[in-house]
Amino acid sequence: MIRTRFAPSPTGFLHIGGARTALFSWAFARHHQGQFVLRIEDTDVARSTPAAVQAILDGMEWLGLAHDEGPFYQMQRMDRYKEVIRQMLADGHAYYCYTTPEELDAMREEQRAKGLKPRYDGTWRPEPGKTLPTPPAGVLPVIRFKNPTDGVVAWDDLVKGRIEIANAEMDDLIIARQDGTPTYNFCVVVDDWDMKITHVIRGDDHVNNTPRQINILKALGADVPLYAHLSMILGDDGQKLSKRHGAVSVMQYHEDGYLPEAVLNYLARLGWSHGDDEVFSMEQFCAWFDLDHITPSAAQFNTEKLNWLNAHYLKLADNARLAALVKPRLETRRVVVTETPSLEAIIGLYKERVTNLNELADAAEVFYIELTPNAELLAQHLAPEAKPALADFIAGIKDVAWEAPAIGALIKQCIGTHGLKMPKLAMPLRVLLTGQAQTPSVDAVVALFPREQVLKRLAAAV
Ligand code: GLU
Repeated sequence: MIRTRFAPSPTGFLHIGGARTALFSWAFARHHQGQFVLRIEDTDVARSTPAAVQAILDGMEWLGLAHDEGPFYQMQRMDRYKEVIRQMLADGHAYYCYTTPEELDAMREEQRAKGLKPRYDGTWRPEPGKTLPTPPAGVLPVIRFKNPTDGVVAWDDLVKGRIEIANAEMDDLIIARQDGTPTYNFCVVVDDWDMKITHVIRGDDHVNNTPRQINILKALGADVPLYAHLSMILGDDGQKLSKRHGAVSVMQYHEDGYLPEAVLNYLARLGWSHGDDEVFSMEQFCAWFDLDHITPSAAQFNTEKLNWLNAHYLKLADNARLAALVKPRLETRRVVVTETPSLEAIIGLYKERVTNLNELADAAEVFYIELTPNAELLAQHLAPEAKPALADFIAGIKDVAWEAPAIGALIKQCIGTHGLKMPKLAMPLRVLLTGQAQTPSVDAVVALFPREQVLKRLAAAV
């Protein structure tokens, strides 16, 4: 049984890079009919907040990345970590170390001065035949993991290939602080073990933790999972993705009017490919995704491509669904959405022309507000010679069948009578009805409004 996990630290929002990690972990589990575990790594109490936990849960829910187990909270598992530490002390895999932080600093200073790599000198590390110093009174010890001193720790990373680190390079990791609280790397190990994780898929900022974690897992007699370290995501400009680049929080994409399926499709292609396929559903992605074809080099964000995908999914989306997404955006702007004009119908006409839900809301808004035509725009588009045609159109409205083809025929009739070209009448109609010179086909736009509203808006010009 394949088991993956997503293990965010709740210290801010769900970052777009974190969402990609979650997506890959989720899809890999789905591909193998396995299980996907959500674990909240909240042991950094100074930085973890309930709001940040909520932001992660909201982001996962919005994307539809449902977990099969969890969320587990590390802060609720302290007793378990302490139990494992006691066992490791009893088995000789861990030991008390009374070197104080000040002594450690001095030690490191001295090593640096000699041009050596700073590291703990092993004073309190028990060895066969070694007599340990007497614990100093009044010093609270930390607990260190007894890391092997020779050989290498190696793994075949599913993205980066084989990685080997000499044990001599690593010193004995502190697994519990002076106050007895377990440290981050240790909690991850116990969790991955207890949660029977088979594949650890995570950002490559954790690659340095892996050899330490593998050594502890081995000391515990635990199965070592397989690791896939994903390369980082760079911004559009090739720099490390940060707040400077605008939206980095998943929920900001929601705010900015992206559809979750567009964001997911986009994220799937960040560092992974399946031939030339660019547009695919999550069902298709899960069928394909098997941790092969992940590029070890950094992936670069491309906002234009995301926008293109979003426009694509907007076109495909059901009008009623889009209306339900646009309506709250209009309400936030204090726009009262009435039955007529129908929001669904407006959306049906405009969704082909926009790249996000906010643009759709912009387009829809003018149908519901009191519109004062922009005098300048009107002067620009309403030529004096078009006024009689406009008057004819207004007169004709009263009797015309209220549907786009009949309205279109009326417009043609009015311009025909006065020997005008189409834009001479179509443009002022657009400006008067929507305040904009660019709209979809003018007969369809007219038909969206109730007849009386068209008369009211056109009356402004005569
Ligand atoms: N909590 C870590 C983070 O948010 C992830 C740890 C892991 O995946 O092993 O970066």
